[in-house]
Amino acid sequence: MREDILEVLISEEEIAQKVEELGKELTATYQDKFPLVIGILKGATPFMMDLVRTIDTQVEFDFMDVSSYGAGVSSSGEVKIIKDLDASVEGRDLIIVEDIIDSGRTLAYLMNMLKNRKARSIKLVTLLDKPAGRVVDIEVDHACFNVPNEFVVGYGLDYAERYRNLPYIGILKPEVYTD
Ligand code: 5GP
Ligand code: MG
Ligand code: MG
Repeated sequence: MREDILEVLISEEEIAQKVEELGKELTATYQDKFPLVIGILKGATPFMMDLVRTIDTQVEFDFMDVSSYGAGVSSSGEVKIIKDLDASVEGRDLIIVEDIIDSGRTLAYLMNMLKNRKARSIKLVTLLDKPAGRVVDIEVDHACFNVPNEFVVGYGLDYAERYRNLPYIGILKPEVYTD
């Protein structure tokens, strides 16, 4: 798998350090608040699982699956809910955990929907932010890393459902796409 990676952009150690910093921040912010941590499947799961283990206060988990991308690398602009939350978010403090914000379409749609469901507060945290890809204006509360306008994989992020299990963030070799 490693031979498919052109360049490691963010190492396992760098990720762990930023995750811990964010965990400390969230621990302080959400003492006695019992937030609902919402992971966006599937890409955010490694980040979310590492993050929640650095949060030293009571939290609840849930997951949503929404899609705006197909199997390839370009945005379709369509947002579809594949799996909704298990329970109502009315009156809850939400922490949305995302892998990467690119165009912002997915999250803009989702944030709007959760606001309409009367959440008490919504914080958006993302592992990666790709500001150059932004099409829709969206307020990101915390991004662990900014990345250049390139297609990245690893630590949850896939190319055609592969590479999610890489422990770091990397750029694929161009021949992987063209094969
Ligand atoms: P947005 O709606 O912000 O354009 O798209 C967000 C979703 O597109 C992300 O959650 C992710 O699934 C996918 N995506 C955007 N950029 C990348 C990228 O560089 N690599 C991978 N693997 N997925 C990406
Ligand atoms: Mg995602
Ligand atoms: Mg994907």
